[in-house]
Amino acid sequence: MRSSWRNILFRTNNNEVQVFGAPTSSEQSEKTIQHITEKFPNKKITSVYVTHLHGDHIAGLGSYAKIGALIRADAYTIEAIKEYPPFSDQIHTFKFHTIKHEQSIDGVSFYVLENAHSKRQSFAFFNESGLIYQADFLQIPFDNTLTKVLPAHTGVFIDFVRSKQLPVRRIVGHHFNYNISLKVMDKASQANMM
Ligand SMILES: [Zn+2]
Repeated sequence: MRSSWRNILFRTNNNEVQVFGAPTSSEQSEKTIQHITEKFPNKKITSVYVTHLHGDHIAGLGSYAKIGALIRADAYTIEAIKEYPPFSDQIHTFKFHTIKHEQSIDGVSFYVLENAHSKRQSFAFFNESGLIYQADFLQIPFDNTLTKVLPAHTGVFIDFVRSKQLPVRRIVGHHFNYNISLKVMDKASQANMM
């Protein structure tokens, strides 16, 4: 699902819907929740996953807390969510689930990396489909044009994906391009050496 250049992913599992990404605002999340509820009236949104602590990625979490969904993130990010001023009235209602590096939940593996963008940032790998969902590690425009200089945190991500030899078929970016191929990822990493 795409809105305002933000890509939110959801995955159904029996009677559950797991959401990946909770950007920008409660209004945005309410739209997403409404869309999912219309599409799957008999399923319940049980969790929402966020990759890192930046406000534009967590600001929509309040709407998920209201419907009782579990909020998934790494420990560092959860601490930041607890301190996020706009949530202060509501934070006692948030239910958290802490993701550990290399943890697998229902066929999704989570990886938490140290990086210069946000100290900790995680991404999700869907074991069966070979899809990665990530936010600010790798941002590629829709036309796949690449910049000449690669940010350090993008390098950290690419090196990790390669060293793990994850069988990746597609990378979904939370921003912009939601269908990044490995070829484009490889091209992006070469940019660094120019
Ligand atoms: Zn960020």
